[in-house]
Amino acid sequence: MNTPAIPVFDGHNDTLLRLEMARAAGKPISFMNGDDSLHIDLPKAKQGLLAGGLFAMFVPPKQEPGQTLKFEDMQRPIDQAHALKETLAMVSCAYRLERESEGAVRICRSSSELDMALQDNVVALMLHIEGAEAIDANFDALEVLYAAGLRSIGPVWSRNNIFAHGVPFDFPGSPDQGPGLTDLGREFVRRCNKMHILIDMSHLNEAGFWDIAKLSTDPLVATHSNVHALSPSPRNLTDRQLDAIAESQGVVGLNYAVGFLRDDGQKYETDTPISLMLAHLDHLLTKLGEEGVALGSDFDGATVPAGIGSAAGNPILIQAMLDHGYGEALVKKIAYQNWLSLLKRTGI
Ligand code: ZN
Repeated sequence: MNTPAIPVFDGHNDTLLRLEMARAAGKPISFMNGDDSLHIDLPKAKQGLLAGGLFAMFVPPKQEPGQTLKFEDMQRPIDQAHALKETLAMVSCAYRLERESEGAVRICRSSSELDMALQDNVVALMLHIEGAEAIDANFDALEVLYAAGLRSIGPVWSRNNIFAHGVPFDFPGSPDQGPGLTDLGREFVRRCNKMHILIDMSHLNEAGFWDIAKLSTDPLVATHSNVHALSPSPRNLTDRQLDAIAESQGVVGLNYAVGFLRDDGQKYETDTPISLMLAHLDHLLTKLGEEGVALGSDFDGATVPAGIGSAAGNPILIQAMLDHGYGEALVKKIAYQNWLSLLKRTGI
């Protein structure tokens, strides 16, 4: 296989959470040297030409020692103090990574810094929050986290908070469950627009989606969601939602999680063909056009097709897109250019 060397900028991963959870459990794992339990580490990033991505900070509910969390527990609301403390731990984790990498990883705060990181062949890390529980009603934490490099936020994960309502994971299911943004949620959108912070609508319910579509002055974005018509999960986007994203010149990142690719919703079936990823890409391209489709792997947060396996498998997806008939120019757009230009259009 002689795959052209096309870098990948990834719209979503949960690697910081994995690293921080291992550290908190007293069993740290090494991003620099690599670890079998990680989808993304430095050796795999180099092997798979991962140029960087939005690195999510997601906060699971508080856990008593020895307690294992059931999936239902994950959807219980969490309090701000706990969320902020855990988020700061993940911001610190990112800064330690940058320092320990001695130049191989760089935290980027703007699209021009991302361009430079791409040129310099280092892994670009842009900080993202998945579920804004760490942000207080006065938005003080937003200012401080912005100063620390935060440039992208999903107002909700799949649970409710003071800003909005997340979608559950019932399958099959509609994203149209629950009410829209709260008044604070509307203020959240105005602040993010003003501060040039990307608003990520993955995990948001449909009423909240339409509220943001009406209110936000930026292109609409779902960093890691798929096509509801092909996999009827509430986490995926209906054709009407895709049309609205297209109209705003927004972007959707293809989620590699098998549960959001498959038409049966099976979450752990690694024997899921790469052709299914291409089917979602085809549909996204039809609805959003060549500038509207990107990648959002969900690495380190979900089960992905065995054929991809990890970030080291990016070139396999690149080759599959080429074999499927996408020209090299289109593959480059999907792999990294569309994210970079979307971030520019968002003022980042
Ligand atoms: Zn997610």
